[in-house]
Amino acid sequence: MKQRLTVLGSTGSIGTNTLDVVARHPDRYEVFALSAATQVDLMLAQCAQFCPRYAVMASAPHARLLAERLKQNDLSTHVLQAPDALETIASHDQVDAVMAAIVGAAGLAPCLAAARAGKRLLLANKEALVVGGAVFMAAVRQGGATLLPIDSEHSAIFQSLPEDPATWARRVDHILLTASGGPFRTRDPATLRSVTIEEACAHPNFSMGRKITIDSATMMNKALEVIEARWLFDLAPEHIKVVIHPQQIIHSMVQFKDASIIAQLGTPDMRVPIACGLAWPERIASGAPLLDFTQLAALTFEEADARRFPGLHLSWQALAAAPGTTAVLNAANEVAVEAFLQQRIRFDQIHALNVATLAAVQPSNPDTLHALLALDAETRAVAQELAQRLN
Ligand code: NAD
Ligand code: MG
Repeated sequence: MKQRLTVLGSTGSIGTNTLDVVARHPDRYEVFALSAATQVDLMLAQCAQFCPRYAVMASAPHARLLAERLKQNDLSTHVLQAPDALETIASHDQVDAVMAAIVGAAGLAPCLAAARAGKRLLLANKEALVVGGAVFMAAVRQGGATLLPIDSEHSAIFQSLPEDPATWARRVDHILLTASGGPFRTRDPATLRSVTIEEACAHPNFSMGRKITIDSATMMNKALEVIEARWLFDLAPEHIKVVIHPQQIIHSMVQFKDASIIAQLGTPDMRVPIACGLAWPERIASGAPLLDFTQLAALTFEEADARRFPGLHLSWQALAAAPGTTAVLNAANEVAVEAFLQQRIRFDQIHALNVATLAAVQPSNPDTLHALLALDAETRAVAQELAQRLN
């Protein structure tokens, strides 16, 4: 039986990499539904190649345009409109697996729908866990969903941990998330004021969406990943550590009680964790080049400098604060990244805005999707206001 797959965010970096792996295995996977925000041309091409039953666009004009283009091309994919349709294609009876690769808090509701419907859920959308960790993990348990991390660090931890989660607390001392350090690993912190968008977007090893690229430059990406790991692996925040490893060959490690370390290695290519999640516990070809150890000059490691990357520590602070604080941090950071990309604030003000927003919004234990989305909206309004004052 083929696995029927929904890809949320199919036109993004993770979405296109997912379809690249899927296209290598037509005997194993069938695409049931795709979704995108606004990229009509790419969505049309994906519909022509994978013939999904549904394609979801984020706005009515884009949905109409796609429907016209599909008709002109004699393609029978039905077009639906977000946000409600995202939950429909994530939880549909005929779907086996859902790749959650929408960026930001916008992905939370369909992720929850897939979890509640007991799907095999391939989670790239880390913001969903940062916003709604407790609610999300409860939905996974209640729905009997199989949660497979796609973020490369979390896939590495998942592959390195013992199979039985009941043994983790007893056997594991801590986990070590590796970080590339991004384009500013060695930059003089005093010059972070003058960082341009082009400089911030020049990630050394990966081509990724714009939001995660900026998050890699501030290391807020790693901060979000600390929170993601806390929920995925049910770890106390003090058992999560971060180390910079610029070559990105070791994708993360587990330190066991007896001082033994198990790590997952490979070329830095997102098709590896995607193929791992798609096929787990089987292994299938991903298309990624093999790692050639004889060509590796060195594997190096260093501590993250708090003056260069002040945002990293906000993750542990937010996890220790009132429930909901990580949702505030996520919304603040989404607004801050967007404001930087629109040249409304400077690069170093991303952190300043996150700190100011955390101080201004007091969450009151949001424990439903509705409450989380309300907190997200409230925080965005506050952060927008604060961004204007910074400007
Ligand atoms: P991207 O910007 O390249 O793609 C995002 C996708 O989501 C696109 O298909 C876009 O059309 C869609 N989308 C955006 N806003 C939407 C909205 N409001 N409603 C519906 N659809 C919307 O991003 P990406 O780099 O592919 O990242 C996707 C997710 O995966 C993020 O959460 C990111 O943190 C995570 N992730 C990415 C990478 C990577 O290498 N790119 C690695 C690890 C984790
Ligand atoms: Mg990652």
